[in-house]
Amino acid sequence: NGLYFGNRYESTAAASDASAAPPAETYEYQAEVSRLMDLIVNSLYSNKEVFLRELISNASDALDKLRFLSVTQPELLKGGGDLDIHIQTDKDNGIIHIIDSGIGMTRQELIDCLGTIAQSGTSKFLKALKDSKDAGSDTNLIGQFGVGFYSAFLVADRIVVSTKSPKSDKQYVWQGEVNASSYTIQEETDPEKLIPRGTRITLYLKRDDKGFAHPERIEKLVKNYSQFVSFPIYTWKEKG
Ligand code: ADP
Ligand code: MG
Repeated sequence: NGLYFGNRYESTAAASDASAAPPAETYEYQAEVSRLMDLIVNSLYSNKEVFLRELISNASDALDKLRFLSVTQPELLKGGGDLDIHIQTDKDNGIIHIIDSGIGMTRQELIDCLGTIAQSGTSKFLKALKDSKDAGSDTNLIGQFGVGFYSAFLVADRIVVSTKSPKSDKQYVWQGEVNASSYTIQEETDPEKLIPRGTRITLYLKRDDKGFAHPERIEKLVKNYSQFVSFPIYTWKEKG
């Protein structure tokens, strides 16, 4: 795996400014991830709305992990005890935010979870996809294994994940673009985006998929999925 430290010395103005954010570092995806993203985007496009189910299920998993750990480590809940999911839509700009107050990710976890395939489920999926002769079975395989986070690239050009783990005193931003071979990570420095704990995922929708940012559409999808989730899901829209 190539590891690149991009932009570090690019701007002398930034380097001389003590308050400037540390620069973004660029990482290559593991080859399997690139392959998976390719497969998802190019062959599973007929079932795009699965992205929301996958992101809600990740949010729910993150909340479950926090709830479990907080039994023995109640201090993990500092900054607010609410365990919930908020989905915010901005239809004019074609943006969806999915925010959970779960366990979050450290910098290293961002690399391990969103840059490599460690999950046995996903590697099983890749194998099943390779073994399947029947082209039409792709969508069934999605349902069976869940292709996870990268399914967000079915509808998004660009994904920004801003996340804060109780294990780290810093919040980090992961950014990826569809069909790219690398992603970046940097510290979150926008005070308006700092969260006490959890993960905020922002999807910048593809031109043809901006319709997913219509609150009615999201609410309808959420209703279908929320029955499987044991945490409240709140949907809200930008004013105006
Ligand atoms: P899976 O859910 O099957 O593990 P995903 O591709 O959906 O695979 O997610 C990969 C990993 O990224 C998860 O296992 C988890 O560690 C991490 N992750 C994704 N979304 C979140 C989230 N909202 N909060 C914390 N961790 C997350
Ligand atoms: Mg998942």
